[in-house]
Amino acid sequence: MPTIREELEARERQMLAPQASHSAETRGRERPEREDPIRPAFQRDRDRIVHSKAFRRLKHKTQVFFAPTGDHYRTRLTHTLEVSQIARTISKVLRLHEELTEAIALGHDLGHTPFGHAGERVLNDLIPGGFNHYEQSLRIIDVLENDRRGLNLTWEVRDGIARHSKGKQGMPVGADSAHRAATLEGQVARVADIIAYVNHDIDDATRAGILRESDLPAGAVEVVGRTASERIGHMVTDVVIETLEGRLAEIRMSESTLRAVLELRDFLFGAVYENAVATAEFKKATGILGGLWEKVRQQPDDFLDARTIETEGLDAAARDFLAGMTDRFAVALFERLFIPAPWVETRRAD
Ligand code: MG
Repeated sequence: MPTIREELEARERQMLAPQASHSAETRGRERPEREDPIRPAFQRDRDRIVHSKAFRRLKHKTQVFFAPTGDHYRTRLTHTLEVSQIARTISKVLRLHEELTEAIALGHDLGHTPFGHAGERVLNDLIPGGFNHYEQSLRIIDVLENDRRGLNLTWEVRDGIARHSKGKQGMPVGADSAHRAATLEGQVARVADIIAYVNHDIDDATRAGILRESDLPAGAVEVVGRTASERIGHMVTDVVIETLEGRLAEIRMSESTLRAVLELRDFLFGAVYENAVATAEFKKATGILGGLWEKVRQQPDDFLDARTIETEGLDAAARDFLAGMTDRFAVALFERLFIPAPWVETRRAD
């Protein structure tokens, strides 16, 4: 009698495209484990990410706007959910593995610092050897979670998370094989990331009064659409059609759509990510993270993990602590350590 998991694995073989990843053919986990009776490997990985502490912390990490008071701005968590939804839509249509796509999408930003990309730049300057969030994402899933036993995820999920990086120069599609995910599902998560953030960051920046829809580059708007809904629809459909035309050799986008997406991203860098109004608060992030970096290294017993200090040194322990913080935790700790508590006068001094 096959188990329920084996039946699901057999169903994958029937339903998925030959180029898709299959749970039963995973390259496996760092530490071999007994298989789950009902869940195939990638589904199990997705569940482990959702149940991780780092995933819950995304709720209080900045996407673009620092600790926004408006209820409708994205956080790192809602960004992650939008990426996951777009990625699953693409994977489903292409008959790729939806749950592998979902696991990569849900895990892709786990290593983000407090205060968004400003925080990442500050940590990169502070930490000897530098810092980037995708290496920290891997460290979280491999080492820090699950009481430092790590989540022991499959090779395919780890590869997708490690290679989702894009930044100002990175290409959402068409990277050479050394710089893109080995699986099509990982490549889908990467393209879904840029489709999500280009559109929701325009929406948030418009809400914040930093730009108007009419400021968007006209040529790009003509290709991909005027509204967020039109643009997401256009980009997703373009990826699906181009990839099918390329017979699923890799995830692709048409020349014109890719050009429009990159133009919108460049526009956002100038108008929003590096805009003086949006980044004014982030200058303070430098002071907060710099102050905490010094303080926690002076008082390691109070803040840092003793095992990490012993095996990897003080800087590694301070990096894990600072990178893991949410925006509000960092602000609260800074206040506690650096701002004197108000002195309450109980007796009149004559
Ligand atoms: Mg992202």
